[in-house]
Amino acid sequence: MSNRFVYADNAATTRLLPAVLEAMTPYLTEEYGNPSSLYGFGQTARQAVDAARETVAECLHCRPEEVFFTSGGSEADNWALKMAAEAMAKRGKKHLISTAFEHHAILHTLEHLKKQGFEVTLLPVYEDGIVRVEDVKAALRPDTALVSVMFANNEIGTVQPIAEIGALCREAGVLFHTDAVQAVGHIPVDFAGMNIDLLSLSAHKFHGPKGVGALLIRRGIRFGNLIDGGAQEKGRRAGTENTAGIVGLGAALKLACEAMEENGKRVSALRDRLINGLLSSVERSRLNGDPARRLPGNVNLSFEGIEGESLLLMLDFKGICASSGSACTSGSLDPSHVLLAIGLPHAVAHGSLRLTLSEETSDEDVEYMLREIPPVVQRLRAMSPLWERICKGEE
Ligand SMILES: *Cc1c(COP(=O)(O)O)cnc(C)c1O
Repeated sequence: MSNRFVYADNAATTRLLPAVLEAMTPYLTEEYGNPSSLYGFGQTARQAVDAARETVAECLHCRPEEVFFTSGGSEADNWALKMAAEAMAKRGKKHLISTAFEHHAILHTLEHLKKQGFEVTLLPVYEDGIVRVEDVKAALRPDTALVSVMFANNEIGTVQPIAEIGALCREAGVLFHTDAVQAVGHIPVDFAGMNIDLLSLSAHKFHGPKGVGALLIRRGIRFGNLIDGGAQEKGRRAGTENTAGIVGLGAALKLACEAMEENGKRVSALRDRLINGLLSSVERSRLNGDPARRLPGNVNLSFEGIEGESLLLMLDFKGICASSGSACTSGSLDPSHVLLAIGLPHAVAHGSLRLTLSEETSDEDVEYMLREIPPVVQRLRAMSPLWERICKGEE
């Protein structure tokens, strides 16, 4: 076993920053008041929740009253799609547009809506992992209720033309949702400026706590409640607020937004060093997704002739935490739907490796990965009948 530990799976989740824990701690301990209580003790918690709402509004360019806290990204995605579909169906609009490479929180929700009688168009994403605005335009119909396109993909990190799609949808009078879980805290997100109507985010993807996120709902949009009950979140998502979680979300987002430019530069330099180093030292390897229009921390490579799962196990032995496809899909034998959507053959998709870096990744971490990964790939290839066939030119 290696004594080095390199966490390179920041797209799956990130480490809670000590400063974020520190901001949360009072609300897990002495400040346990209920934000809905009228006495001062409850109002301290209320103010903390409101301050977090202000932070979200400032960082993402929306109004505080457009922020609705949820239990995370999956809940926000479900709420956005199900309630938009329900509201629009009342006006006879039952067509939904999304893409083939969304997160399962979107794709499985769309499957559910199909069973309820909605028609779904899934747009292609091409080899570069980018959605074409023309394709969105061509798919729009008079009965289109909603367009949902992720801001940045969680497996290949590609960043989508969200402002252009937003402008198109606004002009066409169609609701536009974006799953921005991978983007928020990492790249600039402008809710108002990009004409976004609905946006999902999750704190644990930017060094906040797990189990808390938000859905931004543009003012004036008629939209169903997610949870009926008390008056929390304007009665739209009832239930006593997760005060500590919401405070943690706010603290983490504030730190991420303040350091975004600096972190972005440093992390994308590490990313490119890792990509170029691995591509040049491993033959028959490829980068998945556009090299430039990608998240600062995302590296996604395919190595022909090997199984991603075996690679992960051997990297784990070296103390490297990585992923092959997304955390939700590993454990099943099907290759990632994202890699298939960008046109990779099954065999190549199976040999994929996702390394996702963060501002906590060091130069030494990258050097270690550059040193350890290529020999592991060679060793796996030496045992692989598929690799043998590739070398003989049979594949
Ligand atoms: C992680 C993730 C989600 C789910 O968020 P949770 O808070 O874990 O429910 C949704 N969409 C994308 C793109 C993600 O990366």
